[in-house]
Amino acid sequence: MDISIIIPVYNEQDNVSLLHSELKKVLNSIKKSYEMIFVDDGSNDNTLKRLEELNRKDKRIRVVSFARNFGKASALMAGFKESKGSIIFTMDGDLQDDPKEIPNFIKKIGEGYDLVNGWKFVRHDPLGKTMPSKFFNFLTRKITGVNVHDSNCGFKAYKRQVIQNIKIHGELHRYIPSIVRWKGFRVGEIKVEHHPRRYGKSKYGVERLMKGFLDLITVRFITKYTRRPLHFFGPIGILSILLGFIAGAYLTWQWFTIGGIGNRPMLFLSVLLIVVGVQFISLGLLGEMIANMNPKEDYVIKKKL
Ligand code: UDP
Ligand code: MG
Repeated sequence: MDISIIIPVYNEQDNVSLLHSELKKVLNSIKKSYEMIFVDDGSNDNTLKRLEELNRKDKRIRVVSFARNFGKASALMAGFKESKGSIIFTMDGDLQDDPKEIPNFIKKIGEGYDLVNGWKFVRHDPLGKTMPSKFFNFLTRKITGVNVHDSNCGFKAYKRQVIQNIKIHGELHRYIPSIVRWKGFRVGEIKVEHHPRRYGKSKYGVERLMKGFLDLITVRFITKYTRRPLHFFGPIGILSILLGFIAGAYLTWQWFTIGGIGNRPMLFLSVLLIVVGVQFISLGLLGEMIANMNPKEDYVIKKKL
């Protein structure tokens, strides 16, 4: 199998068959073997029914249907697991991504990239979506150091080895390029054409901003410290204890020279800093214990001779 296309869909009843025929046109023209995997993420409209009809007519369409809505990241993971292609695409099921870009992705993969990320250069979404997205992408580039402009773009192409090495859940799909880069893979991007949504509604509102920000902290933490949490918590703890100790030593000296330090604010600060410092170190050690109880391989081998 050359190509797998994974399409997560949640209440996209009016989009799936249009997308299917557009995809078919493009895929037939490039003469490669392919499969389309629609992952129905617990839709409560007629999406699944439409997909079953398509599957009856075209066996290159496969359908995985969740028992409830588990979220886009889980839908992508389920699609990855089912896929057999050597290049795996993901794209949104709402016709906002244009299948005609597929050959451009394949070309870029051919240049040696392991993941090619889409970049909705001219984006057809409301301003309330595009503005925060620009800001988040800027923040993500600064914090995770990955140089893509549209991290959350649903249109992506992966080499098989990449999908075998990523595990995401919740809403971490927004940060796939950072996670993939951290594993040591080469990440590139191409500009893609984007269309306004014609049918159905967007599934993400303003609440995604808070979730997205928290997930950014998660990604930064897991990409750096999963295997060595004490290196994160330890320095904070040591610094805190040190400051508390300095304040305490100063007060002790004053106690000998002037006396009566019992109600000095600095005394409380000193105690607080030391207690908090000890807690940070304990937290780091707990993290180390958890990391050691789950000794998973976290490396990716590029070549073996
Ligand atoms: N989606 C999904 N599960 C969800 C939410 C969304 O599978 O819980 C799918 C949705 O059907 C679409 C894609 O993810 O195919 C992108 O969602 P949407 O178009 O709502 O996001 P936007 O383009 O507005 O950011
Ligand atoms: Mg959309």
